[in-house]
Amino acid sequence: APNTPDVIVIGAGAAGLFTAIAAGKRGRRVVVVDHAPEAGRKILISGGGRCNFTNVDAQPQRYLSSNPHFCISALRRYTPRDFLDLVERHGIAWHEKKLGQLFCDSSARDILTMLLAEAADARVELRLGCAVGEVERTGDGFVLETAQGQMCAPKLVVATGGLSIPKMGATDFAYRLAKRWGLSIVTPRPGLVPFTFTPQDLARTQGLSGVALDAVVSTSGAKAAAFREALLITHRGLSGPSILQVSSYWQPGQPITVDLTPDLDLAEHLKAAKRARPNAELKTILGDVLPRRFAERLCGDGGTGEVESRPLRDLADKALVDVAARLKRWSVVPAGTEGYRTAEVTVGGVDTNDLSSKTMEAKAVPGLYFVGEAVDVTGWLGGYNFQWAWSSGWVAGQAL
Ligand code: FAD
Repeated sequence: APNTPDVIVIGAGAAGLFTAIAAGKRGRRVVVVDHAPEAGRKILISGGGRCNFTNVDAQPQRYLSSNPHFCISALRRYTPRDFLDLVERHGIAWHEKKLGQLFCDSSARDILTMLLAEAADARVELRLGCAVGEVERTGDGFVLETAQGQMCAPKLVVATGGLSIPKMGATDFAYRLAKRWGLSIVTPRPGLVPFTFTPQDLARTQGLSGVALDAVVSTSGAKAAAFREALLITHRGLSGPSILQVSSYWQPGQPITVDLTPDLDLAEHLKAAKRARPNAELKTILGDVLPRRFAERLCGDGGTGEVESRPLRDLADKALVDVAARLKRWSVVPAGTEGYRTAEVTVGGVDTNDLSSKTMEAKAVPGLYFVGEAVDVTGWLGGYNFQWAWSSGWVAGQAL
C-alpha cells in the first residue's frame, strides 16, 4: 500500500468518501485516513436510521453561509438527481417522505455499503482506526504523522466535519488546521438542535411534554427565518422539525415566535364561535383548534394559565382578539440549545472567502482542500447536508 498516494483525505464520512471516490475514478491514488474504527458512522445514524440522503429541492437558498453564493456552483455541478442516479444504479429502494426529502426504504446501511463499493471500485484505500498527528507542508505537498506511520502526498483534503456529536468522534481538527495556515473560521455554533427553557418557561409548559402541533416558528433579527412544520414540547424545552430549522438561524437572547394556528384567522374564528355557541367556554373552543392538553394549560385550570376561560358570551370581542394575538404570536426567549451533544450540524466553519467555490481548494494554500460540514455551508434539515457533502466532495474530486 502506498505511503505516497496522489491524495490523502482525512475523514471517512460522507464528504471524505465522496471526494475519494470522485478522485479515484479519475485515476488518482487516494488514501482516506480516519481515527474512527468504522467509516461513515454518521451516515448510519442519520435520518432515524434510514438516511435522508438528499433533497430534490436542494437550492442554494436552503443553505446558511456567510457567503450565500458560495454553494451555488457545487450544487449545480453535482445535483440531487446525480446522487439519486447513483443510488438507483446500486438498486437501493427509496421513497420521498415529505418536502422533497429522500430516504432509503430499508436502511442507511445501504448508502454506506454503496459508498464503500464505489470506493473499492475506484481503488481507494481506507485506513481506519488511524489517528492523525502532526501535519506539515513541504515544498511539494503535505507530510502527516499517523498511527500507521508517516504519509505524504501532494494534495490533502480535510473532510473531518464539524463539532456535532463529540461522542462519535467529532473534533475541531479542520478548524485548527485551517487557522494554522492562515484561513479564517466563521465561529461555529450548534445547528438543527432543540431549545432549552428557563425554569420560568419550563413551569409554563410543565406536564405538556410530548404535545406536538403544526406551527409556524420564526426568528427575527439579522437573519430572519420562518418554518412551518411540527413543533414538539419536551421536558426541557422545544423540539420538532420547525424548531430544529429555526435553531440554525437563532442567536442567543433572541425570542422565537410561534403561530400556533397557522391555517386559521383565530380572532375571526373566536368571534364567530361567540355568536354560534355563546355558552361554550373559551377553553372548549381552543381545544377544537389546538391539542386539548395545550388549550387547557393556556386557560389554566385554577387561574394559573395565561388566558381566562369563561363562557364566550362573557368575553368582549377585544378580549378574544387579544387571546388570538397571543396564540398567533406566542413568544419565548429560549435559555439556550441542547448544544453539540445532540445538534445535527455545526453552523459556521472554514470561511468560504478563503476557498474556491469551483474546487474547494484553499486560495492561499495550493493543494489543500476542505469539503463537507467543515466548511461554512450549512443546510436545512431534510437531506440538504448530505447533498452538500456529495456536491462539495464531487467538485473537489474533479480538481484533484
Ligand atoms: P462527518 O460525516 O462528520 O465525517 C467526518 C469524519 O472525520 C468522521 O468519520 C470522523 O471520525 C473523522 N474525523 C474527525 N476528526 C478527525 C481527526 N482529528 N482525525 C481523523 N479523523 C477525524 N444530514 C442529512 O442530510 N440527512 C440526514 O438524514 C441527517 N441525519 C443526521 C442525523 C444525526 C443524528 C446527525 C448528527 C447528523 C445528521 N445529518 C443528516 C447531518 C450529516 O450527518 C452531516 O452533515 C454529514 O455527515 C457531514 O459529512 P462530513 O463528511 O462533512 O462529516
